[in-house]
Amino acid sequence: MIKISYKLPDQKDLEAMIGIVGKDYASNNKAITASYLAKSVMGLESQIPDIVIRPKFVEEIRKILIYCSAEKIPVSPVSGGLSGGFSCPTIRPGGVLLDLSRMNRIIEIDEDNRYAIVEPGVTIGELWAYMHKNHPDWAPPVPDGAPPASTVMGDAIDRGFSLYTSSTGPQGDNFMCAEVVFANGDVLRTGSWALPTAKPFYKYGLGPDIWSFLMGSQGAMGVVTKVVVKIYPHPEFKTVVVWGMSNPYDMQDLTLEIQKQEFGIAHNTVMVQGGNYPLVMARWPKDKVPHDYEFFKEMGIPQWWMNFECWAQTQEELDYVTNRINEMAKDFKKNRAKDPDSIKPQELHPKQIASRLKKPNKIAIPYALWEAGFLFITWYTPWPECAHFSEMYCNAMEKYGFPPVMWVASIERGRQAICMPIVCFDSTDPKSLEKVQDLNRETTEYGLKQGWLNYRPDPYIHIQAYYQGAMYWKYLRAIKKLLDPAGIMHPGRLALP
Ligand SMILES: Cc1cc2nc3c(=O)[nH]c(=O)nc-3n(C[C@H](O)[C@H](O)[C@H](O)COP(=O)(O)OP(=O)(O)OC[C@H]3O[C@@H](n4cnc5c(N)ncnc54)[C@H](O)[C@@H]3O)c2cc1C
Repeated sequence: MIKISYKLPDQKDLEAMIGIVGKDYASNNKAITASYLAKSVMGLESQIPDIVIRPKFVEEIRKILIYCSAEKIPVSPVSGGLSGGFSCPTIRPGGVLLDLSRMNRIIEIDEDNRYAIVEPGVTIGELWAYMHKNHPDWAPPVPDGAPPASTVMGDAIDRGFSLYTSSTGPQGDNFMCAEVVFANGDVLRTGSWALPTAKPFYKYGLGPDIWSFLMGSQGAMGVVTKVVVKIYPHPEFKTVVVWGMSNPYDMQDLTLEIQKQEFGIAHNTVMVQGGNYPLVMARWPKDKVPHDYEFFKEMGIPQWWMNFECWAQTQEELDYVTNRINEMAKDFKKNRAKDPDSIKPQELHPKQIASRLKKPNKIAIPYALWEAGFLFITWYTPWPECAHFSEMYCNAMEKYGFPPVMWVASIERGRQAICMPIVCFDSTDPKSLEKVQDLNRETTEYGLKQGWLNYRPDPYIHIQAYYQGAMYWKYLRAIKKLLDPAGIMHPGRLALP
């Protein structure tokens, strides 16, 4: 049984940390510790840490974890800290926040074996710029809409999605091998990397794969200090094809037909993402734009739409892909659509195409303009259920007085949908915050009954998923106890322990 009580770090603990990393890199200064409290976006509940430590070397992390295990001080690792409250402590005392931003080396890019080896603090902006300059024919899997200061590492451990997620699968599938420091100070390399003489070329290495169960652990199992991430060709021939429609069911069904092709066109559609017109509306301050659809209709914006971002090695290949998508859409409109008249191709201005193709894009950030705060509440559903999800969630958002902003993307050629309601709310008003939590709870209860999965679990609302998957939770807790017997790693996150 793990005893759930933690020590509030004192001056002696701070001095021990200064002894490990040096006085410039460990602090309990309130202004510094409070600055890490990033509220909103994907997790509303978080605490201020008591000490912030900024190690540079794996050996320093080993010493910190051994010390904190002995003293029972909680530790929360942070790479970029841009997953909202998810990297901050969830309990009091908050303990140590391990800021890994100084571990920022791009160690190797191997174009033949097609991987990059990076440390946790390498930001997506840095990796993108580095590859653009030194390896322009290759692209790393940066999360499509995340801020440039977020990291590839944080996105992996948090189970994100990348700019070619529709073609290659969830972000977790892009990771090959890792180096992890466990709470007892052991340093483990996973996959083929477990063998000191092997390149990190094969994820499943020496028998059962340990890296996969660290995926999604959100810092609750150990500190990842290096990752090997797949890179993919970055061809010159790209465009975005868009089809508009009046309802989420036609969006879902047309997209599924295209994604089910698998070979050829579906592999060329790297990012397949759509949504509804409030996605446009809620990117401006609430009092600056009309809210009714008629205004947006005049501007030629459909009620729902789907973007197919296509990458190809030649113009001929790109033409083939875009023509096939358009032919399939016309056939769907003629023969199977619920509302055929509404199904129309959307002509994009070259500047619109260029802005959609730009990575990392900053498209999500303006949602904060609507009413000061926004929260991504993200779910995975089977693709053929994303319209049901969207309809249900839009109704629920309207019931609670929020604009019904819905974004949906295909993962691995429509095997899953990532459905992301964006809740625009007034973060300065406690009542508005309470409404967000009520909405989240109500829709979570509904979603779990449908068998849908939340993407970045938070310890308060989504604990219900663990209650329902009790046997799975039992084994997660057992693994956690094995790796972290004192329970110091990000306690509370994933309701572990
Ligand atoms: C405006 C906006 C748009 C976004 N768009 C996208 C998107 O398009 N796709 C997407 O997938 N995500 C998106 N995100 C979510 C998030 O920013 C990304 O997932 C991002 O890559 C997280 O990286 P980070 O370094 O900030 O992670 P952090 O916040 O540092 O960490 C994420 C989690 O992993 C843990 N962790 C971090 N580093 C380590 C480590 N080295 N070892 C063990 N545990 C660790 C943390 O404790 C935390 O629980 C978006 C966020 C914002 C704010």
